[in-house]
Amino acid sequence: MKRRTFIQNASLSGLGVVAGTTVLACNNTSSTSEANSKENPVDTMKNTEKPTPIAICTWGFTKANEAAGIALKNGDPALDAAIKGVSVEEENLKNTTVGKGGAPDREGNVTLDACVMDPSGDCGAVLCVAHITNVAALARKVMEETPHVILAGEGAEEFALANGFEKENLLTEASKEAWQEWLKTSEYKPLINIENHDTIGMLTMDGNGDIAGACTTSGLSYKMKGRVGDSPIIGSGLFLDNEIGGAVATGMGEEVLKTVGSFLIVELMRNGMSPQEACEEAVHRIVKKNDRYKDFQVAYIAMNKAGETGAYCIHEGFTMMRYQDGKNENVAVDFYKKS
Ligand code: ASP
Repeated sequence: MKRRTFIQNASLSGLGVVAGTTVLACNNTSSTSEANSKENPVDTMKNTEKPTPIAICTWGFTKANEAAGIALKNGDPALDAAIKGVSVEEENLKNTTVGKGGAPDREGNVTLDACVMDPSGDCGAVLCVAHITNVAALARKVMEETPHVILAGEGAEEFALANGFEKENLLTEASKEAWQEWLKTSEYKPLINIENHDTIGMLTMDGNGDIAGACTTSGLSYKMKGRVGDSPIIGSGLFLDNEIGGAVATGMGEEVLKTVGSFLIVELMRNGMSPQEACEEAVHRIVKKNDRYKDFQVAYIAMNKAGETGAYCIHEGFTMMRYQDGKNENVAVDFYKKS
């Protein structure tokens, strides 16, 4: 049974969830305590004009964000635009942290993780996929064509091949050489890694004010075989509620998973925080828990239903792309560790 039919049947039996599509604006508060003492903005939000389409993504992925922004401008729905955007990096062989050309695990296998979420709250994900480049599009297929949310490993790959995806070798010569160099010491140090582009997480708001997102990665370089991080896990690498907003994460996936970071940010926005405040609080939850944050990076970006955006990270060096009204900007992001 196709997923859509399954969901329709479920809603007929009273299990369906319908997300609202009203466009809302909320006050942008300036501090966490102030936000907490205010009335719940979900109650105080008011109808307003629809914002012009917006695309934001992690790091300086200029072309990917521009592709999404242009797609939105041309009238694409939010999820189509997000998948178009992130596929630019999945296909970029020079990017060693996303898609084809990604760094392999310790045994030399490139495995990809991705998830997508649409404005209705529906979602799909694939984990540990070894021979498919466009894993965000594959995650969407899982969402639309199966009764499941997640497919992993061989099952995901068989499903991909049955649905017209091409089987490819994802290990490029350059990534192979770097891995062989790494093997000489085999020293596993997933440190801050701010010099390199990382996971691409993207949030899009289309001309109807609907929000969607996609997150896609090859995960940490030289990870253990079978390791999966936060990126394909709904609630950690990506979460959105079309009535409130969305968030995506990049950086040390284990730490994002432990704090369910993206879900946390959306819930904080639901309770009154601006996207900026919510991202800051989610980073604080991580750094409060352990001192090891000195050695790893975590970064979040978020957007609310009014089109306000925010971002925050542990260490200097993370940036966010923001496309709106034909302008695609690389936005500097404030960080926790100032010294
Ligand atoms: N969050 C990704 C993971 O842990 C990696 C990254 O964004 O650098 O797999």
